[in-house]
Amino acid sequence: MQDDFDHSNDVPEYALDTLAIRAGHHRTFEQEHSEPIFPTSSFVYESAAEAARKFGGKESGNVYSRFTNPTVHTFERRLAALEGAERCVATSSGMAAILSTALALLSQGDEIVASRSLFGSTVSLFDKYLGKFGITTRYVELSDLDAWERAITPATKLLFAETPSNPLSEVADIAALSKLAKEHGALLAIDNCFLTPALQQPIALGADLVIHSATKYLDGQGRAIGGAVVGRFDLLEEVFGVVRTCGPCLSPFNAWIFTKGLETLSLRMKAHSENALALARWLAEHRAVERVHYSGLEHHAQHALAKKQQRGFGAVLGVEVINGQQGAWQVIDATRLLSITGNLGDVKTTITHPGTTTHGRLSDAQREAAGIAPGLIRIAVGLEDQQDIRTDLARGLDALAG
Ligand SMILES: *Cc1c(COP(=O)(O)O)cnc(C)c1O
Repeated sequence: MQDDFDHSNDVPEYALDTLAIRAGHHRTFEQEHSEPIFPTSSFVYESAAEAARKFGGKESGNVYSRFTNPTVHTFERRLAALEGAERCVATSSGMAAILSTALALLSQGDEIVASRSLFGSTVSLFDKYLGKFGITTRYVELSDLDAWERAITPATKLLFAETPSNPLSEVADIAALSKLAKEHGALLAIDNCFLTPALQQPIALGADLVIHSATKYLDGQGRAIGGAVVGRFDLLEEVFGVVRTCGPCLSPFNAWIFTKGLETLSLRMKAHSENALALARWLAEHRAVERVHYSGLEHHAQHALAKKQQRGFGAVLGVEVINGQQGAWQVIDATRLLSITGNLGDVKTTITHPGTTTHGRLSDAQREAAGIAPGLIRIAVGLEDQQDIRTDLARGLDALAG
């Protein structure tokens, strides 16, 4: 890897909370305490000979910020350390991370087996764009291992899952999927956006690749768009080649925001999870609520698995209220504090009606198959005071219960 960093802070023996604050940091001659930003497109050389060595890869060092940039590199080293991965490549968005992975590791005629409950743009990418180049995707029930196995063919090169899923909080057994992938000579990629390495480390469970939308919890405060792929060195070398050549690279400024975001990631994820669990329990008792989907609740179908493979349950939950879409809209419209938006992974609590927003383009039958009931509301629980969040939701829920 092109890299002239001092790695003295990247000690793998350190615990996650220490790595989140220290890993990947290097100091310039100014001896600054906090991580610097290098907003520069290119780098200069002492001589023609040095330029030739650096361009030729004979000497490490930065050439051009589409290839490498010190600020971006700090973010990559820190995230790789947190995921327990050999390497990370940062990208301009979460979608760019998925696209770059596909371009790097798949060819015409290859197949993907993916969970049905994926981020909407991921499904469009797989079907509409990869499909154009002869890469086919089959979708299966996230938690149904037999269905995954049945969908695999000799052409399957990639298994792709998001766990826990959005908005129903379904959980896939990562270790079992990894075993399946290995048996069939395929790679396993996990989109770890909802839990982050603070709560789940897919590499340790056998995943080959981890995908991030840094836009969500890695930043955590809704300030920037970015993404990353982490995993084995040889696989990431291919992904790096795509990013370097095709250009979906991360800007240094955004990388700096994410680097500073990682420093509080663990604390935030714990607080997000605690707030979400308390809210899920309270919602489950409310008369206007039919069902709460959250893997942290004991009645959830994969609660035991979630407890085993995660260090927390995350902060995205689905709540089904009475009176279908009308009831859901009534509760959403009665809020004054919560943000009505499709985004998530923010200190601000967000609320949305999946049936008419994130899953609005599906047919009624597809929505039903995906478990998106008309009365379903998705809440991405933020870090505001628990009682204030409840009060905001109770206004609509109490009115609905009559
Ligand atoms: C938001 C999101 C993405 C896409 O990330 P962008 O940064 O918006 O491109 C991918 N996967 C999941 C699970 C997401 O929530």
